[in-house]
Amino acid sequence: MKTNLMWFRSDLRIRNNLALYSACQDCEATILALFISCPHQWKLNSMSSRKAFLIYKNILFLKKELMKLNIYLYYHESTTFLESVNYLIKFCRKNKVNNLYYNYEYEFLEQKRDIMVMKKLKKYHIISNGFHSSTLIPPGVIINKKGEMYKKYSHFKNRCILELLQNSLNDIFIPKKRKTIILTSNTPIVPFDFNFHRFNEQLFPIGEIKVLKKLKVFFKNKFNKYFTNNNSISHDTTSMLSAHLSIGVLSPMQCLFLLFKYYPNTYAYYVKKCCWVNELIWREFFKHLLYFHPLLSQQKVLCDWENNIKWNNNEKHFEAWKRGKTGFPIVDAGMRQLNQLGWMHNRLRMVTSSFLVKNLLIDWRKGEQYFMSRLIDGDTALNNGNWQWISSIGSDSAPYFRIFNPILQSKKFDAQGKFIRKYIPELTKISYTNIHDPNTWNGNIRRRNSYPEPIINLADSKKTMLTVFKFAKYKL
Ligand code: FAD
Repeated sequence: MKTNLMWFRSDLRIRNNLALYSACQDCEATILALFISCPHQWKLNSMSSRKAFLIYKNILFLKKELMKLNIYLYYHESTTFLESVNYLIKFCRKNKVNNLYYNYEYEFLEQKRDIMVMKKLKKYHIISNGFHSSTLIPPGVIINKKGEMYKKYSHFKNRCILELLQNSLNDIFIPKKRKTIILTSNTPIVPFDFNFHRFNEQLFPIGEIKVLKKLKVFFKNKFNKYFTNNNSISHDTTSMLSAHLSIGVLSPMQCLFLLFKYYPNTYAYYVKKCCWVNELIWREFFKHLLYFHPLLSQQKVLCDWENNIKWNNNEKHFEAWKRGKTGFPIVDAGMRQLNQLGWMHNRLRMVTSSFLVKNLLIDWRKGEQYFMSRLIDGDTALNNGNWQWISSIGSDSAPYFRIFNPILQSKKFDAQGKFIRKYIPELTKISYTNIHDPNTWNGNIRRRNSYPEPIINLADSKKTMLTVFKFAKYKL
């Protein structure tokens, strides 16, 4: 009789989990499951304390779900990836494991870790079985004629849509319950060494059952209005599923599968035209990009002129940005939302990141790392991809001269100033016509409201940025 080990990482679900499902295909096999936390490594990777807490709570839930299948989830806390590899090998040998099952992760250190595991296990004749379960399509399938990853998003997207419509949806169900539970030792899941930060469980529920319910509620109540509403930051208009996708409590395939179930007649149309599916395909693009270029997770870039950019890196400006005290209300409200909630609306992520890179001329790496250290949905592929896109140095980026004007963005997407007032109570009394533009306020208003002066002049900063970027790119 074989012993199969399912190694959980960022795939904390029992439904639609390719590796788990495959591990359980042999009805006779003994199935063991293992999760290894790596708090020290995660801190080095700037994981936020909210995301760490979300992981912790979800592994507790996962353990209960696995119990229902008669599978025991073993738990171990290690510090680094290297230590986790050594533990895993020991575990496999002690429990006479024949096959290891896991879903791939695409970051540089994670890929290196998995290669190390595979090589070491091979020596003991243990077979490693890896699966792509965090994407819609396995990376490597959508490639250009040279066998490389597409550089242009639109090309990637077109191919991706074709693949999605040609192949039937892969909704892998829960594996069948095992006859008996195998318990070789008892390993309780204790809080790992991380300064956990509480988060709002109404917004970010625990466990795949509640998350699937959240997805259904999104399709029922918000999906049809997403096209017109999704940029409105004052309303609860988007799915808020990113945190669950980032730790794999939900898979993107489940998103499409449920979309199909809700809208069978219009499904093909939605895959081609719907902007929510388009966002999932952006996610796909950045995941595939990271798979091909894992060093992106080490803040490397693919373009050859980025290191010519002369960053300003003013520490006082960086501090003001982080604390939501730049004197530009929409930027500050966004940053305060990030600090208080661990989540920020996509429009605000664009506005605040553009402000940091293009107006303050601060190295995008600092912003990327700060976002990661605060986001409950921090995901290297998406965070890095979007920061590089905003900074105009990514694979298919905004042109370098594109810069978000925070005042215009504020007027357009928070017309009544409701969002600003929610996060900047100092400005509650300012009228909706004036709230967006601090230059319309007189000194009295500012003093009364103890809100900072704008730290820069927008027009001047735009001119400087254009000169710096043009020089870096064309040496002009
Ligand atoms: P919805 O609008 O409901 O979209 C559904 C899903 O599509 C999201 O959950 C997400 O998985 C994907 N998606 C949405 N927008 C994007 C996008 N621009 N790029 C790639 N995928 C997208 N998202 C993260 O999950 N983790 C991050 O660390 C992250 N960092 C970002 C940094 C910057 C500078 C920017 C501009 C965007 C970042 N995003 C990140 C993408 C996006 O802002 C969030 O995914 C989205 O706001 C999450 O809210 P939602 O789940 O309600 O999204």
